[in-house]
Amino acid sequence: MKIDDFIRDIPDFPTSGIIFKDITPLLANHKALVSCADQLAALSPNGIKIDKVIGIESRGFIIGSMIAERLEAGFIPVRKKGKLPYQVKSKNYSLEYGEDTLEIHIDAIQPGEHVLIHDDVLATGGTAKAVCDLVAQLRGVVVQCNFIMKLDFLHGEDKLNVPVSSLLAY
Ligand code: AMP
Repeated sequence: MKIDDFIRDIPDFPTSGIIFKDITPLLANHKALVSCADQLAALSPNGIKIDKVIGIESRGFIIGSMIAERLEAGFIPVRKKGKLPYQVKSKNYSLEYGEDTLEIHIDAIQPGEHVLIHDDVLATGGTAKAVCDLVAQLRGVVVQCNFIMKLDFLHGEDKLNVPVSSLLAY
């Protein structure tokens, strides 16, 4: 099934000059949704048992949890500052304008666990890099960052020194 057909381009959202990659048509179609999760789970490295799948707030939660189910792994939400109820590790990271903070529960990952990080879009890579740093703080091992799509013209992959997989590249 062609996932590409279910991604909608929204020009000038949320700001002028950005083409927003809207995955809601994909989420709304049962066959496309299941196929997307199946294809992403199949990209996980052969022969390595994934212990935890991280989904990045908020769109990464949806298909991230479906990947976790397929890989028989636990699911870990990484959230924006102040959303998680228990003790957290935090990481500041740069956005196009300004800064933001992502957080993970301190007991989300045990030392040495194999972690797969999932989000919908890899753009500049700042978000995924911050999540890799959070996993490192907990002494987990990131075995793959996996995205529905990557925006190659932004070279986000260059920021990540872990294997990157995606179904689509623009
Ligand atoms: P970045 O840190 O620049 O790689 O941005 C990644 C985060 O921003 C992801 O959580 C994406 O969901 C979101 N994002 C960035 N650019 C886009 C885009 N053009 N369309 C949809 N989401 C985007």
